[in-house]
Amino acid sequence: MKRAYLSIGTNIGEREKNLQDAVRMLIAHEAITVTAVSSIYETAAVGFTEQADFLNIALRLETTLSAQELLLVCQQVENDLGRVREFRWGPRIIDLDILLYNNETSNTETLIVPHPRMYERAFVLVPLKEIMPEKCDMLEGVQNAYQTFDIEKEGVKLWKTIATVDEFVPSEN
Ligand code: AMP
Repeated sequence: MKRAYLSIGTNIGEREKNLQDAVRMLIAHEAITVTAVSSIYETAAVGFTEQADFLNIALRLETTLSAQELLLVCQQVENDLGRVREFRWGPRIIDLDILLYNNETSNTETLIVPHPRMYERAFVLVPLKEIMPEKCDMLEGVQNAYQTFDIEKEGVKLWKTIATVDEFVPSEN
């Protein structure tokens, strides 16, 4: 089993439902167990700023998939939720990024892990820090990067507190 961390963001439509739909789809995958979900944070868009605010969460999961296979699953979720890729940094129904994969690095044409921009983005680090266990090897790097930010100035606001995966996406039975 490998442990991975994802970042999920959305700024179109029913934003909370988009996040829940994405998490449900990951939970439904036979090779993925979602073990933690962060609270939901709201952030003003970076890059192209004339667009609606984003909701962001981070997820922790266990998987037997390789990093590359996990990327394909993430892209399938994006496609299934109807993401239209209009332009880079533009509005999006759903965006899934692999932040960390089992303390491994990947540098291929399609996948860079750790995610190359994660340490520069408060909206990634704030939810991520919330779900990283204290014993995790990668926590120090995340904490160091986090400390360089003035979170309030970055405009990352707690939008809804989430304690458990089941609270976020109640199982049907
Ligand atoms: P985006 O517009 O942020 O969804 O970027 C998607 C592109 O980034 C895809 O073509 C992926 O192959 C590539 N990519 C590289 N590294 C990662 C990563 N760690 N997680 C997700 N996508 C990645």
